[in-house]
Amino acid sequence: MNDVTDTHDGVEPVRDVAIVGSGVAGLSAAIYVARADLEPLVLEGPEPGGQLTLTTEVENYLGFPEGVGGMELIRRGKEQAERFGAEFVHGTVEAADLDGRPFELELANGDTLYTRALIVATGASARWVGAENEDELMGYGVSTCATCDGAFHRGDDVLVIGGGDSAMEEALFLAKFADSVTVVHRRDELRASEIMAGRAREHEQIYFRWNAELLEIHGSREDGVTGATLVSHPDGRPTEKLGTDAGEDVARERVDVGGIFYGVGHVPNTDFLRETPVDLDDDGHLPTETGMTTRTNVPGVFGAGDVMDPRYRQAVTAAGTGSMAALDAEAWLDAEAERAGGDRADGERADGDRGNDERADGEAPEALAD
Ligand SMILES: Cc1cc2nc3c(=O)[nH]c(=O)nc-3n(C[C@H](O)[C@H](O)[C@H](O)COP(=O)(O)OP(=O)(O)OC[C@H]3O[C@@H](n4cnc5c(N)ncnc54)[C@H](O)[C@@H]3O)c2cc1C
Repeated sequence: MNDVTDTHDGVEPVRDVAIVGSGVAGLSAAIYVARADLEPLVLEGPEPGGQLTLTTEVENYLGFPEGVGGMELIRRGKEQAERFGAEFVHGTVEAADLDGRPFELELANGDTLYTRALIVATGASARWVGAENEDELMGYGVSTCATCDGAFHRGDDVLVIGGGDSAMEEALFLAKFADSVTVVHRRDELRASEIMAGRAREHEQIYFRWNAELLEIHGSREDGVTGATLVSHPDGRPTEKLGTDAGEDVARERVDVGGIFYGVGHVPNTDFLRETPVDLDDDGHLPTETGMTTRTNVPGVFGAGDVMDPRYRQAVTAAGTGSMAALDAEAWLDAEAERAGGDRADGERADGDRGNDERADGEAPEALAD
């Protein structure tokens, strides 16, 4: 249990576990941590409920044979976590001090929070392309996830925007359902690896629009996507040329399509960790220990969901790693308490001396040690 008398500077209570993010991973972690009587604090962030709130129908989450609305799934998850004592607050973490103990989190509104263990479940935001109407139609025929929404487009003609490996993966997956898949790429050559590009090029249902970009999406929330306006220019990157002298040579074309998939990458929400000792990979993802744990290179800090998983990015995998992070955090707190002689932790910061040379369980973090 959080000890409310255990304060930093005698002001703020120190939480046992703070969870940053209220998507599926954060909610799943919250349920597990709360059921362990650790009363987690969940910071909801700029997008309460996370990415799943952007989608209308989830058909591949266990336990909902008829499918379930993204919002509904999140609403139920939050209710479940609250039932066991999780506390949700609006708040976005802007910076973190993870050098001392307890950890310090600075929120955008100026508040500071203290926690012994930290679960980072901040997700990875899919990049959007900035086309007209994408805000309105995201989740209504526009998607950033072919694995999630591809099956809704059986027999449709669809567009995939992008030219890298993720766009090729999306296109190849969608070709199982759609009549035709047209990859729209702003240059005349792909950025994707040769093997992925080759597979897409050889596929008889996959077509390419070179030097082209998506300008506008047509449709409505009732009817879904009905078409798109593409622009193209012989030298590529046509939207950059609009409004300049070269704009005269930009061609516009309206195409009829039933779905549009963005495959232009994801940005992990880890900016607030940049000045901390937590390792991030080149893309900004939070690498966790190789093998089945969610531990990062900083003891007491755990990663869950899309922020640590550039590969699967599914609700069910995010929920899975959320529960893992909760169990890892709980075990770590227990080990720390044992080490401190029965008290969960001393609640005092020991800047510059985190005692981090060893894992709480005494094992060196092998995979991350070098
Ligand atoms: C349109 C769409 C449809 C999808 N459909 C499906 C589907 O049908 N099936 C499926 O399995 N998956 C689907 N997915 C993928 C699924 O939504 C993600 O895999 C899942 O949401 C990842 O959960 P997460 O908790 O890791 O991250 P997210 O859901 O991204 O949640 C991240 C959370 O972190 C918070 N946050 C971010 N930065 C901060 C900060 N600095 N401080 C505090 N909080 C912060 C955000 O506010 C948010 O609450 C879909 C995704 C999209 C975009």
